Amino acid sequence: MVAENYRKVEKRVQEACLRSGRKREEVTLIAVSKTKPVSMIREAMDAGAEVFGENKVQELCEKYEELPKSLRWHMIGHLQRNKVKYVVDKAELIHSVDSLRLAEEISKEAVKKQVEANILIEVNVAEEESKFGVHAKDVEELVRKAAILPNLHIRGLMTIAPFVEDAEENRPVFQELRKLAVDIKLKNIDNVDMSVLSMGMTGDYEVAIEEGATMVRVGTGIFGERNYAV
Ligand SMILES: *Cc1c(COP(=O)(O)O)cnc(C)c1O
Repeated sequence: MVAENYRKVEKRVQEACLRSGRKREEVTLIAVSKTKPVSMIREAMDAGAEVFGENKVQELCEKYEELPKSLRWHMIGHLQRNKVKYVVDKAELIHSVDSLRLAEEISKEAVKKQVEANILIEVNVAEEESKFGVHAKDVEELVRKAAILPNLHIRGLMTIAPFVEDAEENRPVFQELRKLAVDIKLKNIDNVDMSVLSMGMTGDYEVAIEEGATMVRVGTGIFGERNYAV
């Protein structure tokens, strides 16, 4: 089932790229495997998945140890500072940086472990109270302060769009994140590149691609519903 789902999502990613005049290589499909067993990750891997997203440090570390080192891991969930040390050398990209204190901790641990950490700034575009992420108006200040930290590289922006019935409702959210990235890019801040736009999940990844996403994070569409009760 996972392999078939993965191929279906991959096809829709390709079609969305085609529709919007983009190259397939411009968009990374991240298979969000949180709560799912390694057996399912292997199925996705066999279908062609290479990049996996997790939102819990411990789970990411366990799967990292158990699965082939050829897989690439992204930390997409809220990250506590005391757990940074466990993921900084395992996640090739941390999507969820929303404070200077967190960026400082990532930098500190990256220096200690002699690795280069790549991060995205998480933006709460829709300003939902329940969400993590910085408000759009505060992004530039955070970017400027984080940009000077050693062994840390800002690659772009990430957002979690609201849960909506109709994906079209999130189009303005994606447009706004893109606009924000363009505005920051124009400021030419040293050590900041705004090439990554991580936006779009199972319900709205095609709209996100049409609006410029370079990474989409798809969980349910590939692995099925998550059951948090067990
Ligand atoms: C769980 C999660 C996803 C995937 O959500 P689906 O709707 O299952 O595709 C994407 N991004 C983040 C940050 C998540 O926590």
